[in-house]
Amino acid sequence: PFADVSGAGLTVPLADGSTCTYANLDYAASAPALAQVTARVQDLLPYYASVHRGAGYASQVCTASYEGARDVIADFVGARADDVVVFTRNTTDSLNLLAGCVPGETVILDIEHHANLLPWKRNGARVVEAADTVEETIRRIVAELCARPAALLAVTGASNVTGEVLPIARLAEVAHECGARILVDGAQLLPHRRVDLAAAGVDYLVFSGHKLYAPFGAGVLVGRADWLDAAQPYLAGGGATRDVTTDNVVWAEAPQRHEGGTPNVLGVAALAAACEALAGLDAERAQAHERALCERLVDGLSAIDGVELLRIWSDAPDSVGIVTFTVDGCAPREVASYLADIHGIGVRDGRFCAHPLLARLGRPEGAVRASLGLGSRASDVDRVVAAVREFVAARTTDSCCATAALAP
Ligand code: PMP
Repeated sequence: PFADVSGAGLTVPLADGSTCTYANLDYAASAPALAQVTARVQDLLPYYASVHRGAGYASQVCTASYEGARDVIADFVGARADDVVVFTRNTTDSLNLLAGCVPGETVILDIEHHANLLPWKRNGARVVEAADTVEETIRRIVAELCARPAALLAVTGASNVTGEVLPIARLAEVAHECGARILVDGAQLLPHRRVDLAAAGVDYLVFSGHKLYAPFGAGVLVGRADWLDAAQPYLAGGGATRDVTTDNVVWAEAPQRHEGGTPNVLGVAALAAACEALAGLDAERAQAHERALCERLVDGLSAIDGVELLRIWSDAPDSVGIVTFTVDGCAPREVASYLADIHGIGVRDGRFCAHPLLARLGRPEGAVRASLGLGSRASDVDRVVAAVREFVAARTTDSCCATAALAP
């Protein structure tokens, strides 16, 4: 592995009553905690206290940790000096928050995760159908942005289905040329690639702690303050106000304006610890490690008869460690259950909250996704490839494929 993560060496039960070491190939759903994240949570737990409320020492420690996390995260993503970092529950929360702040129409692609599709569609977003190439997809985006003014282009940084990466700096340029801002859904990109908002010209970025080697329940929206300051608060309540009388409310500015209620102090501290740990890694080496594992996975799976890998584009400039595939004639759940029950391998199956994309790729019944991260090893990849090969061979010789009867 490239880094120490929680759950390494976990023992899991198999269908035949035996056990084996778990192979986690489900990083894209939620990534295990980095060792530095676990340590930070353990250090902060004794100081468990509400932020912003008390003068007590524990409350001061938690407030400093919570507010300091904004700077850590701003640094991590190369935010401009006047950008704000708003803490949310996750990417979905961040996108719903921003959707309530955009002063105009939004343009989106049809390949998005539902989190970056439905909040905008609810506001009447204009949906551009992605083409077979990134180049043609960008031409279609430009045509849509030029046809009628839009306030925002909302796109994913990396697809949660195929791992393909969009050229966000270029998209930022075309959005700005057409008078729109750009939001990047970084849920799948940030765990694999560094993003520099200022350098890339990205106006808003959202991501989730639980996909970035931190626990569940903390997410981020970072970007330009003006829209956030002008909008209604996301949650009305304590913490979001400056002054309240029985007749009137003066709301605080962002980020507090949108953070009503007691915040997730531990989750935010953990997320900041993850960003610090990731910033301290040698990004080039980490990417080379993942790329080698990903190539091994792609080569291994593509060599199996009846296995097909999903791609949106033929010219994606980059892709992260996500490989999604189908096995001819087999339900995705059947494959995923076989990997889990017979081989102790964790993958994800289904439509990945991207139903329009799966339909477009001709897989309305779903697919199987194997995804990699900093704790992944070559042996995990080899196990999944061997298990899929075995599954396919067993299917060929036994068409009813009673998984319990197959050799482990
Ligand atoms: N966008 C993308 C690209 C994702 O992969 C996900 C999670 N699968 C989300 C948004 C939503 O993230 P969360 O569930 O943490 O809100």
